[in-house]
Amino acid sequence: MFYSVKVNCRKNAGLPQQTNIKRIFIMGDPDSKRYPPEIQSMPDAFRQLSDASTFHGVISAADAASLAQQMGISLEQLATKLVPFAQLYAVVPISNYQVGAVGVGLTGALYYGANLEVAGEALSFTVHAEQACIANAWVNGEQGLATLAISAAPCGYCRQFLYELVDAATLTIALPGQPLQPLTYYLPDPFGPHDLGVQGGLMQAQSNGLSVGQPLDQTGQAALAAANASYSPYTSTFAGVALRTSAGVICAGRYAENAAYNPSMSPLEAALSQLVFNNQPFDTIVEAVLVEAPGTASQVGTTQTVLSAVSSTPLTVYVTS
Ligand SMILES: [Zn+2]
Repeated sequence: MFYSVKVNCRKNAGLPQQTNIKRIFIMGDPDSKRYPPEIQSMPDAFRQLSDASTFHGVISAADAASLAQQMGISLEQLATKLVPFAQLYAVVPISNYQVGAVGVGLTGALYYGANLEVAGEALSFTVHAEQACIANAWVNGEQGLATLAISAAPCGYCRQFLYELVDAATLTIALPGQPLQPLTYYLPDPFGPHDLGVQGGLMQAQSNGLSVGQPLDQTGQAALAAANASYSPYTSTFAGVALRTSAGVICAGRYAENAAYNPSMSPLEAALSQLVFNNQPFDTIVEAVLVEAPGTASQVGTTQTVLSAVSSTPLTVYVTS
């Protein structure tokens, strides 16, 4: 089934570039990138890869190992040093409170995360830096995190979100000036997927076997792939979103459910966060596709609402057979 949803752009907000004086990287304008003072302690190689037009908040395992070796530090320590650089990507028109996170994937690659707020919309649409980091690592093929370095202690919501990870039992949290601690140190008496009889967890490779029964363009295919890899063990309403910009960049986001329901992450939020790391302003979105399975927790309404806050592009929806 296919339909197109007309949405009115109520604010034409685009990417909030205005008023946030702390923001030193304006999306869509690479020349605006200015690094925090911590750049002084980083090797030239970091500056080079970070300056590359193709950089999108991911440092390959080989580059990460090379940087750590040059600096004589561990990957966990490198991730902690990179947190201020991930923080540059925060989009915080409401709170002006920037949070950065850097995840060390099981492969040894590093992934940035930064918080994202949607101007004018409910605070519940906020993406936390930890969530952005997980979405970034997951959509780039990672199947678990060893360590998550964060600029401040994770909020209760994120502790619950992180406990959904397939390797939550071994994930460690790195905070400034504090010893590395397991996630479970910050979340005693946890409630998680195992309490609801779910085996495995978030970031585990999924193949949900969805199809839409008709040819799809590249953006539609990316949305379908995201839905097929999405994590929806509680409602089976698998979902994925893909956004294409006028520069031809396609960013996808996968739905991530949580045992406690509220900390679930919508596929649109994940995709918008990917746009930020790919330096694509929201007002350059020219195509938006949601693919979802029929179920009890549809993303259609909320995706329309949030999309219309940042873009006048209509949402195309495919419901899988
Ligand atoms: Zn949080």
